[in-house]
Amino acid sequence: MLLAHRIRLDPNKVQATYLTRAAGTARFAYNWALAEWQRQYQASLADPALPKPNEMALRRRLNAVKHREFPWMLEVTKSAPQTAIMQLGRAFENFFSRRARFPTFRRKGRGDRFSLSNDDFRVEKKHIRIPKLGWVRMREGLRFAGRIVSACISRLAGDWYASITVDMPDGLSLPPAESQGTVGVDLGVKQLATLSTGEKYAGPKALRTLLVRLRRLSRELSRKVKGSRNRVKARLKLAKLHARIANLRRDSLHQLTTSITRRFHTIGIEDLNVKGTLGNRCLSRAIADMGFGEVRRQLIYKAAWRGGQLVVADRWYPSSKLCSCCGHRLEALALDQRQWTCPGCARQHDRDVNAAINLRNMAVSSTVSACGGEGSGLARECKAKPAPEKQESSGKAALGRIS
Ligand SMILES: [Zn+2]
Repeated sequence: MLLAHRIRLDPNKVQATYLTRAAGTARFAYNWALAEWQRQYQASLADPALPKPNEMALRRRLNAVKHREFPWMLEVTKSAPQTAIMQLGRAFENFFSRRARFPTFRRKGRGDRFSLSNDDFRVEKKHIRIPKLGWVRMREGLRFAGRIVSACISRLAGDWYASITVDMPDGLSLPPAESQGTVGVDLGVKQLATLSTGEKYAGPKALRTLLVRLRRLSRELSRKVKGSRNRVKARLKLAKLHARIANLRRDSLHQLTTSITRRFHTIGIEDLNVKGTLGNRCLSRAIADMGFGEVRRQLIYKAAWRGGQLVVADRWYPSSKLCSCCGHRLEALALDQRQWTCPGCARQHDRDVNAAINLRNMAVSSTVSACGGEGSGLARECKAKPAPEKQESSGKAALGRIS
């Protein structure tokens, strides 16, 4: 299993210049190889005797001509141009297997980055060693102990980060969850999450004020003259705010999913048809902000690390409309109705808590019936599903002093 740890870098001015130059070299090599690819492809159409382009041959060709044609490339690590062309090769593979569109040229300032192969860098405590540059300070040490596979150095909103990929065959094996049994989690718009225990996670409050500021800054940017220095400054300011909001969100989701998986062994959640919900314009902003799909993704892999499991309810399971007490099912429940009284047993329900309790009951019954060998048809389990290829864990370091 590959895990990536993304760490903020603290380069000094000279080092930052080098990083910018290395990213520029990677971009140049990528674009050079893409143009070369297209040229060779056209040539091979005209004359079938010519070979079809491939990334290996392009890398060899660049190595052969760079001393003469692009001597400035030698000032940065050789990994930068080489891995960029390997990435182009992968982009074409994805294109040929219809997973992605035709590769496009990289643009300056958009996702500036370069990669290092594992024999090209070293990590020691809070430093990373980059060839032809030396040791660069990191905000924290690498948390995963395993075989280091590669690193990607990237710039986001003016700050540099190193995403270090580590191979850990068994993933992380963390101590099993505290024995608090099964929990139901209702993800919502008003609250980030409500647990069947009655606890509510509100999500970060700072977000709302930041969103107001976001609107103001975008307006300011649109008023600046194109190509002016002030526009560049305004754009960086806006990018920093976007990054800060994204970090806040990510942090709150990680805190939520870590806390849930640390406490409960079995977790029941709804299968939110996120795309369907996004069609509703009033809800879409709040839901996109909270990232339901992300919560579920994190719960799956974090539960697996502790030997726990996630039970996802069937899409049509009426978790909100069912009385968790007597099983009475409402015909309809308006979205804005936060409280309701059950006509069957006269019990007062908080909409979210009731839904969470139903999800817990669903998870309990589905694990019981799974043991009995009979599927209840209500839920499916997401246990020990082969984890998504790469998990990014982003430490507090990525959060700090961005503004
Ligand atoms: Zn009832």
